[in-house]
Amino acid sequence: MKYLYTTLGKLTADQLGMILAHEHVFVDLRTPDQAGYAEAETDSVLALMVPQIEAIKALGVTALVECSTGGVGRRADLDLAVSRATNFPIVVPTGNYREPWIPDWVRNASQDALRDWMIAELDDQIEDTGFRAGWIKLSAGDEGITPLEATILRAATHAAMATGAVIGSHTIRGSVVMDQLDIIEAEGGSARRFISIHTHAEPDFGLHRAIAGRGAWIEYDNIGAVPVQESAKLILKALDAGIGSQLLISHDRGWYDPALPDGGEPKPYTVVNLELIPLLSRLGVSEDTIIQLFHRNPFAAFSRP
Ligand SMILES: [Zn+2]
Repeated sequence: MKYLYTTLGKLTADQLGMILAHEHVFVDLRTPDQAGYAEAETDSVLALMVPQIEAIKALGVTALVECSTGGVGRRADLDLAVSRATNFPIVVPTGNYREPWIPDWVRNASQDALRDWMIAELDDQIEDTGFRAGWIKLSAGDEGITPLEATILRAATHAAMATGAVIGSHTIRGSVVMDQLDIIEAEGGSARRFISIHTHAEPDFGLHRAIAGRGAWIEYDNIGAVPVQESAKLILKALDAGIGSQLLISHDRGWYDPALPDGGEPKPYTVVNLELIPLLSRLGVSEDTIIQLFHRNPFAAFSRP
């Protein structure tokens, strides 16, 4: 049996429907060495983010994947507080973002120590939250993966092999994704347990095919920031190319930003339900394909034994 590991415990496919594969409840894009990094009052976060979660619950969304990882303000305790206040499960990652968002303890840790930390969060719990990490989130630079980012990726590969967890990476250039897949395969890992996040930003569609051809998931996100018509066109192209069974779609929106007064103004997670899915239906995408894209694919990508 495969489960989605969430703030509210492990859930089976039968217990879930639509899952948003890439969103943020809380992010801090200041680097971890800056004053005030990732700090916020729980009540202030709840006041801003509970209505955002209630809005997607009302539209039938059953879970959301938090993509804020180490180095960009992961606050698993705040994700848990939002979950409890809304009775809505959130899937939280272990791992760490790219340079320069790498705290000193990660920079100084050995590859094995990073692997063991990730496995402990995936198999036991994140910090003292009482819930397990659902997956591994990392990133690589646009000009190519750095030695430190490669160490984090190798550690993640071994943690993924030990737990069945998927690795997702914020990687803008498809050529860098291909390098990441080489590293994973050289370590004995599987491209099938890798998500190429922000693949829509790679202009060469041949690379979308090539990444999927190696077995990895591709993700088209920024729905709502990218015009919905443009996203729909790219999704149809992927479906025509036969890679719809490896496609994830989400907003990459939200969120409470502790660098802004009262967390700033969140962007709603509702564009997929209110605009994109109706447009895909009008363009002839079947109900079964919609279920595949928004229910079955995200469960398959993020679930594990
Ligand atoms: Zn994101």
